[in-house]
Amino acid sequence: MSTEESNLFEPPDWLAREDEALAPYAMRTRLSRGRRHPEDPHPFRTLYQRDRDRVVHSTAFRRLMYKTQVLVSQTNDHHRTRLTHTLEVAQISRTVARQLGLNEDLTEAIALAHDLGHPPFGHAGEAALDECMKEHGGFEHNRHGLRIVEVLEYRYVQFPGLNLTWEVLEAAALHSKRRDTPEVREFSGVGQPLLEAQVVDAADSLAYDTHDIDDALSVGLISFADLDEAAFWREALARVRAEHPGIGPLQLQPATVRALIDWQVRDLLEHTRQRLRQEKVSSVADVRRTREPVVGPGPDVQALKAELEDFLRRRVYRHHRVQRMASKGSHFVRELFHRFCAAPQLLPARYAVRAFQDGMLQRTVCDYLAGMTDRYAQDEFLRLFQPYTDV
Ligand code: MG
Repeated sequence: MSTEESNLFEPPDWLAREDEALAPYAMRTRLSRGRRHPEDPHPFRTLYQRDRDRVVHSTAFRRLMYKTQVLVSQTNDHHRTRLTHTLEVAQISRTVARQLGLNEDLTEAIALAHDLGHPPFGHAGEAALDECMKEHGGFEHNRHGLRIVEVLEYRYVQFPGLNLTWEVLEAAALHSKRRDTPEVREFSGVGQPLLEAQVVDAADSLAYDTHDIDDALSVGLISFADLDEAAFWREALARVRAEHPGIGPLQLQPATVRALIDWQVRDLLEHTRQRLRQEKVSSVADVRRTREPVVGPGPDVQALKAELEDFLRRRVYRHHRVQRMASKGSHFVRELFHRFCAAPQLLPARYAVRAFQDGMLQRTVCDYLAGMTDRYAQDEFLRLFQPYTDV
């Protein structure tokens, strides 16, 4: 054998590698319920790798860049948007999944897709759309996320949507608070969500609690002194100061944010492992049978987190500057919704075609609005309601 040949890398058989490397309670590609529209296997990517790649290539994913997390996307250039939030959730989820022996590809696909259904202007936009749609099936971001990946994306000749695997769709469906709706019903009755989905859920909550504090400090909604009332922050800050006695003001905030994430991830791993042992979870079937989700923080961190969330609600989410953004956002959404419903000929051609079909008017307008970024919704508002703007 020549040296050149012996140095060639033989790619592993990924399905076999999953069997070797994953914990018994992890979801494996070969156990997948597959896709709604059958496809030939890819020569070197597993089903979940492909799901992850499809999400990243979707239009809805790129739009997350200009969608509100808490602060409207134009506030400044440093705070979180839906996209950077999603990336933080994905990387925390992957770390946790790897430590627990779960399927990282599946976890990552679920994480990258978890906020695809969010409309512009965050929860204010979501509440406004839900109100507008109350006679027509309502609006909720998890269900809309399913609609995007099942119907609205139009990238493939062979099928509508992204044709993701059942497991990724199920994670979005089971995250919905409206389990009785037709889109969600198809996925219910399976028991608890897969551990990969539970990890994303926990990482989502861990990520936003922490980064919302970071952003609120950075844009001056709150100060370090205000955070004195939140024990979680206080203790993380004390840990940082003890470890780095001479720490300067520039590093203090990021170091405390890092300490908070690290504390929560360690605690999450410890308590999840404990519950996996207690509940004797040693297969996917066992995961499904547990009474409650097993991935989550321990009681101490849970209490600290609840107190921090209460602080966020009072001091950040209800801050008059955040409320003004929310109020403007819902105003734009409501006005646009009613205008387009009254005059569907104002819709771009692709949407107008559907809006004129029987019974499709409100849902089509809702799809159009939910897909908008903060920026696009504001431009569209100006184009429709401001005199002398380019239409
Ligand atoms: Mg999220």
